[in-house]
Amino acid sequence: MAFPEPIEALIREFARMPGIGRRTAERLAFHVLRSRPEDALRLALAIRDVKKEVKTCRRCCGMAAVDPCPICADAERDRSTVMVIEQPRDQEAFEAAGFRGVYHVLGGSVNPIEGIAPEHLTIERLVKRVREDGVREVILGVDADFEGDGTALVVARALQPTGVPVTRIARGLPSGSSIEYANASVLADALTGRRAMESEG
Ligand SMILES: [Zn+2]
Repeated sequence: MAFPEPIEALIREFARMPGIGRRTAERLAFHVLRSRPEDALRLALAIRDVKKEVKTCRRCCGMAAVDPCPICADAERDRSTVMVIEQPRDQEAFEAAGFRGVYHVLGGSVNPIEGIAPEHLTIERLVKRVREDGVREVILGVDADFEGDGTALVVARALQPTGVPVTRIARGLPSGSSIEYANASVLADALTGRRAMESEG
């Protein structure tokens, strides 16, 4: 059954979010409807502000309140070592694992089922950066799953003409696992045991 249009509009917006089906969207919409006006307004303002105040770093394509982001702006970081990650939140895991280089955020992984092609990711920006910024090693810090494997291959091939060595963090990570949830010491071992990517074929 259909609810009054303003409620339907809110349900539609919630239902567009990842992992949210129609029933959950209805629950969330009615939660908002029942909440105090000031609470509902705070939610609306938080959504507005996240779009207004979070910027994309022009160097690493990551997100921060400033551009360049604090990591790219930090002169103490090793700018010759670039860690390629799928999404901004993976950065936290590598920071906890003690990585001191800089990052490049792809914005996802190659996923034919979800229609994410290599050109939807920031691979071209990465190649340009590697050519221009004196990068000496690119480490692929992508997930140890099917999409991560495909993405690693696509990125390694794109970087091949630059001649810069491309490595991938070791498979200390359980297969199918996500960087985001990896334990810091497991990730630190995976980083130490990284191997050269073979990009032929
Ligand atoms: Zn940055």
